[in-house]
Amino acid sequence: MPLVTDYWPCPLCGKGSIEIMIKPSVMSAKRTACRAGRGTTLRKTKEQSFVVSDKCPVCGKSDEEIEKKWREEGLI
Ligand SMILES: [Zn+2]
Repeated sequence: MPLVTDYWPCPLCGKGSIEIMIKPSVMSAKRTACRAGRGTTLRKTKEQSFVVSDKCPVCGKSDEEIEKKWREEGLI
């Protein structure tokens, strides 16, 4: 599963670019076996993202603060 590296603007100052790693969500088919017959259920893994940069190069906010902000906004 390839990881995607991207650069997002800092959510706190809007100037610095923050390196982020995105692990895309994948659909996986899972066979279910039961006596009544056979079936396939689709499962979607959740997309996972995490901040790579240690801090914002412009405002100096830590990766924790940036990640928290993005999570609050529902971006990651
Ligand atoms: Zn910043």
